[in-house]
Amino acid sequence: MSDTTTVAESNTESLIRMDRMPHIWCSGCGIGPTVTCFIRGIHRAGLDPDKVSLVSGIGCTGRVAGYVKLDSFHTTHGRALPFATGLKLGNPELNVVVFSGDGDLLAIGGNHLLHSARRNIDMTVICVNNFNYGMTGGQTGPTTPLDARTATTRYGSFEHPFNVPDLVAACGATYVARWTVLHVRQLENSIAEALAKPGFSFIEVISPCPTLYGRMNKESKGLDTLHTYQERSVIRNGADTKDVSITADSSIVVGKFVDIERPTFGDCYSRMTERAQGTKK
Ligand code: SF4
Repeated sequence: MSDTTTVAESNTESLIRMDRMPHIWCSGCGIGPTVTCFIRGIHRAGLDPDKVSLVSGIGCTGRVAGYVKLDSFHTTHGRALPFATGLKLGNPELNVVVFSGDGDLLAIGGNHLLHSARRNIDMTVICVNNFNYGMTGGQTGPTTPLDARTATTRYGSFEHPFNVPDLVAACGATYVARWTVLHVRQLENSIAEALAKPGFSFIEVISPCPTLYGRMNKESKGLDTLHTYQERSVIRNGADTKDVSITADSSIVVGKFVDIERPTFGDCYSRMTERAQGTKK
């Protein structure tokens, strides 16, 4: 892994499709900074961009696929993970990344998330969590904190949300981290680490949506939400994922929570193939 921060920084534009600018994201949205950390993470991990493939689902974060200069795929709603699984199985040399939002990955794509983690598919998932469905008008979603206001829960959300790190860790993910977009250095390093690690790596990125979720919760500017992150986030590497739930006014525990070894789906498949061939002989 390269430790030359300046090289990582100076190469940020090299993997952006500048001809597609300006992007569609609102001012103060956290998706753009996450993309910057991702590109720096690729450089920091020393990966060949020709061997990195990005898959997105639907939603504001899903638009990332159109802005990066990588082999990228903008897939149907909730189906980024099975598409990425096929890509990885078809070409195991690829470093496959799924870059999508909380609605896409945890609602319609929730079942795929459970099984991708269970199988320990060798890929990195970057989940931008802004606690609502941004692209369709700010409705409540599976990560909306209890009591938070959204377009469909004007008096506060009354559903219990997922504790996302705990969910993926319980399913078998071998690398689990959470950062906010305020933690740019940690996020960049975490993405580099996840990209270099075999197995199912999952990074939750807590991100402002000032236009919808923020406006409904007294944070109408992205900067307001960054102030909240500054006040409420606590770095606790190695924390038990059971203790990292987010409520409307709790602390936001961030850090690297899980970093374990487990045979990947590809390892298990190869072992079975060898066994089958040995049996035949
Ligand atoms: Fe970002 Fe929210 Fe705007 Fe979507 S609606 S681009 S998530 S600020």
